[in-house]
Amino acid sequence: MKQLVFATNNAHKLDEVRKILGGKFDILSLREIGCNDDIAETAETFEGNALIKARYIHDKYGCDCFADDSGLEIDALGGAPGVYSARYAGEAHDSEKNMAKVLEQLQGEENRAARFRTAIALILDGKEHLFEGEIKGRIIEERRGAGGFGYDPIFIPDGETRTFAEMSDAQKNGISHRARAVAKLVAFLESWS
Ligand code: IMP
Repeated sequence: MKQLVFATNNAHKLDEVRKILGGKFDILSLREIGCNDDIAETAETFEGNALIKARYIHDKYGCDCFADDSGLEIDALGGAPGVYSARYAGEAHDSEKNMAKVLEQLQGEENRAARFRTAIALILDGKEHLFEGEIKGRIIEERRGAGGFGYDPIFIPDGETRTFAEMSDAQKNGISHRARAVAKLVAFLESWS
């Protein structure tokens, strides 16, 4: 079976992709190829960061691989937090603090439009491919719901009444930015021979 490295150690993401592609590709994590490097995500775009990670693995290990990068873009904040989503309120990856900062910055703001975006970079047989997914919605004024992670409690997708954190995993994964980008990657890989 053809091996494909997913440049992540996130068990949830690995599980999701393996369930879909496991019959056709042997999906390996960074840990499984012996990579413990902290790959600096220094680009200004999700696509750029996904490419940095995929190229790093491809160049160092010579294997086919893909990498993803995601985040939240808020119109009234000029697209912030964007590529800084994980560390918006500091280096600690603290979701509570990140949400508090966003809610404070949006206080009194009428334009609450926002979107989550995911970019996936794939390097297969030496060729680079990019896939993206997005979900539009809005930022509400206080947290609602206990599910999900990151900014889920303050984001309601267009056409919905519940935040991502009030949905089941299955409901969120049916419409999320990540699911949409992964679906494009999967469609590409399934037609690949
Ligand atoms: P990653 O690139 O998937 O690790 O996402 C980077 C950061 O964006 C996360 O740490 C979260 O703060 C935010 N983020 C990405 N996807 C989601 C999501 O589905 N819900 C809430 N926050 C997210």
